[in-house]
Amino acid sequence: MIGLALLLAFGGPVPPSQLVITTPRGETRLAVTADAGGRAMVAALPLATALGGGVRVDGAWTTVVISRQDFSFLPYAALFRLNDRLEPLAVASIERDDSLFVPYQFVSEILPRYLGELYQFDRSAGRLVQRGAAAAPGPKRLANGLLPGHVVTVDAGHGGADPGNPGRFFPRGVTEKDVTLKVALLLEKELTRRGITVRMTRTTDVRPNLLQRAPTCDASCDLFVSLHVDALDTRKRRDYRSISGFSTLIIGEENSADADRVARTENEALRFESEADQDLVMGPLAYILKDLQMNEYLRESARAGALMQANLEPVHPGTNRGVKQRNDLAVLNTGRRPGVLVEMGYSSSPSDAAFLLSADGQRQIARALADAIVDYLLEFEWKSGVRATGASQ
Ligand SMILES: [Zn+2]
Repeated sequence: MIGLALLLAFGGPVPPSQLVITTPRGETRLAVTADAGGRAMVAALPLATALGGGVRVDGAWTTVVISRQDFSFLPYAALFRLNDRLEPLAVASIERDDSLFVPYQFVSEILPRYLGELYQFDRSAGRLVQRGAAAAPGPKRLANGLLPGHVVTVDAGHGGADPGNPGRFFPRGVTEKDVTLKVALLLEKELTRRGITVRMTRTTDVRPNLLQRAPTCDASCDLFVSLHVDALDTRKRRDYRSISGFSTLIIGEENSADADRVARTENEALRFESEADQDLVMGPLAYILKDLQMNEYLRESARAGALMQANLEPVHPGTNRGVKQRNDLAVLNTGRRPGVLVEMGYSSSPSDAAFLLSADGQRQIARALADAIVDYLLEFEWKSGVRATGASQ
């Protein structure tokens, strides 16, 4: 029934759920998503990157550069500009999380129409094929468009003598530290498979010092990712068990009441650290350093968090609780690089707990986070001027 309704709503063949791009550099798979009206859309940046191009913002317009041609889109207008001419689109482009999404028609019709000598589209397979072997010059990229050499630190929250939250709906003997380690090890595999080098703060049931975890992500590391499981005290309020979902915490200036509660819980592990280490978190020098870091990396951390939330949403049974800013999360405060703390769900919610415990749920979380990290690094490469067009620096 749903399939038929979709078919009728679209008024034509339903596009495949993913788009395959074949170039002399390899094959890339991109998700096809839907706009509010259910019409097929493709994220512009990964598309352009896969084709050896890029995206830049020109005022209200966003320009997708492919094969040195500028296709400029005005978000929410059903048109694009090419060589100073306006051309109509069947569906308007949209913006989501600051990123441009172009209609599927751009790949299925417009690229083959204007760059027919370069691109051919196979509609039934949902595949765009670049003809010939004239690979764009430039640094050699991985199949997902990333430059090799990225490093990410994965931190499995808690461990050893610090169990984290007791796991209200976890089986006896299983606590937060066990679930964070399982997902962290899966995330390590997923990132390695995507060509990213991973540093682990722990790979067994041990407890690295809370304040030495983030510094594991040093200047050579792109992103620090700390994995946790949230919990509410269901003995206090029975209906807390109905609260579910996932959120990402970053270092910032705001403290919401709920983020306050999470920070209290996650910082509880500080009682395992020495007094000198505790001063490190609270002392004035730490405050100044933290302030500097906040200004420098707030944007990057927020962006990584937004991408993680967006990638978790389709696979997670709980509510998307968004990206929250914190100014006193010990595990992130000591970091000198962009960093996020992911609360992957509530152990005090029966449905979240079942998802977090299942092998399939753990794998889905790890994949969603790995995909989000690739998206983040692709954007980061573009913004930092390591463009995919060959004019690299
Ligand atoms: Zn935790």
